[in-house]
Amino acid sequence: MARTGANAPLSTPTPATDHPALATPNVAAEPDLAASRVSHMEARTRFAPSPTGIQHIGGFRTALFSWLLTRHYGGQFIIRIEDTDTARTVEGAVDAVLEGFRWLGLDWDEGPDVGGPYGPYYQTQRRAIYLEYTEQLIASGHAYRCFCTPERLETVRMMQRQRGEPPRYDRHCRHLTSDEVAARVSAGEPYTVRLAVPYEGTTRVQDALRGVIVFENSTLDDRVLLKSDGLPTYHLAHLIDDHLMRITHVFRAEEWIPSAPLHVLIYEAFGWQPPIFVHVPDVLEGSGGKKLSKRHGAKSMQDLRAEGFLPEAVLNYMALLGWSYDDKTDVLSLDQIMKAFSIERVGVAGARYDEGRLLWFNGYYIRQLTPEALTERTLPFLERPQAEGGLPDSVARPLDREYTARVLRLEQERMKTLAEAPGMTEFFFTDAIEYPASLLIAKQMDATRTLDGLRRSEKLLSDLTSWEATAMEQPMRDLAAELNQKPGQLFTSVRVAVTGRTVSPPLFETMEVLGREVSLRRLREAIANLEAE
Ligand code: GLU
Repeated sequence: MARTGANAPLSTPTPATDHPALATPNVAAEPDLAASRVSHMEARTRFAPSPTGIQHIGGFRTALFSWLLTRHYGGQFIIRIEDTDTARTVEGAVDAVLEGFRWLGLDWDEGPDVGGPYGPYYQTQRRAIYLEYTEQLIASGHAYRCFCTPERLETVRMMQRQRGEPPRYDRHCRHLTSDEVAARVSAGEPYTVRLAVPYEGTTRVQDALRGVIVFENSTLDDRVLLKSDGLPTYHLAHLIDDHLMRITHVFRAEEWIPSAPLHVLIYEAFGWQPPIFVHVPDVLEGSGGKKLSKRHGAKSMQDLRAEGFLPEAVLNYMALLGWSYDDKTDVLSLDQIMKAFSIERVGVAGARYDEGRLLWFNGYYIRQLTPEALTERTLPFLERPQAEGGLPDSVARPLDREYTARVLRLEQERMKTLAEAPGMTEFFFTDAIEYPASLLIAKQMDATRTLDGLRRSEKLLSDLTSWEATAMEQPMRDLAAELNQKPGQLFTSVRVAVTGRTVSPPLFETMEVLGREVSLRRLREAIANLEAE
């Protein structure tokens, strides 16, 4: 879908309150913004994805704002599939969007799967509607048929480029006589239908965040409304649907601002009142100032889910990409966000995507989970095949729930994503652990002293009557003192012996969960390994 670049705003946006609404003869008065802000009762908003690729966090953030408005004020949230660009339609894209919503826990009142009173909710199923309204625009002189071939259009654009002019349609077909049009139509010549933009005057776009933006009509293009395949372009289709579906607030990406005057002109041509436009700020990639895109690492909901993000963390994070609660509160539940949401607190500055911050939120929400919830949510990550990031395939599934819960409780503090769990906890589940024997030797220690420490630890621990962490700690500290080792030195060798790594959850709690048998066996294996060195 081509997006216009030639029609830059004429004026810098100014607060709406400075602009008394202009009375335009053939259109209802502009919506009274101040009033609309406080009386959103029965708001109807929509998310209207084009299934041409994967919706990433930026698109879902915009959808979230729409959803929040209706859930805050009451009203309906609608999902509509804008699939008129059939050549670019990607199989599975609609399911991926709906699945993303379900995962986030965002519901919708009308949409492709649930239907509703204003359906169908796929634009390709609404062709007849668009054709009817296109005829209406042609009949009233607001649109016209264009028979120019793609080759001719390309030549025009090339010449414009050479002259340094912005590329746009030269209106070649705008004044064909009706006889000529009729003859060419009946001869079967393909045509598109274009908007007849007024040659003069200005068009005012009212944006809820930016106020009124004024465009000089002479800078606008006679854009295609209906393609030669009989399907509408975005400009026509979304607008007819928004009107017929009684959408009150249109939340969409700010890249649509340059097209907004065309939309206002079409609303005027039909004599319809435009909805309230909320052009939300872009989500920018982390490092540069560019808009976040798949190429810059933008993630879909499926990616985030597979990477072990919690939907509550993603929602919290997304809500703050352009909206703020106040200047300091970060952690907010969806319910709190919903209660507090207002358009007034949506900013116009681009919001930067920062994965580190998302991870911080995720770690926070993981720490809030009850042991049962943590287990429930992490089990699929542990149990999935090794090739997909799960525990080694040698570990028998299903895992023991109670044991897994005890393991995860130890790792909960450190976990940033659920997908990290298999790597972090593997030694709790596998029979054998592998590590180089040299890892057993702590800083400023040698093999002999290490062996001594391990042998004495094994003896001490196997003599204990209780296998609780609290029963191990003091005797082991005393042992370190007796061996003239720092506790850190002794504990490092024991830690490596039982876990195979130098970093783990607290040592004695780890051994408690691993159990007496496994811990002592691993200690003996470590001793044997070091002896063999
Ligand atoms: N189908 C459009 C897109 O995906 C929707 C824009 C809008 O919300 O109006 O960009």
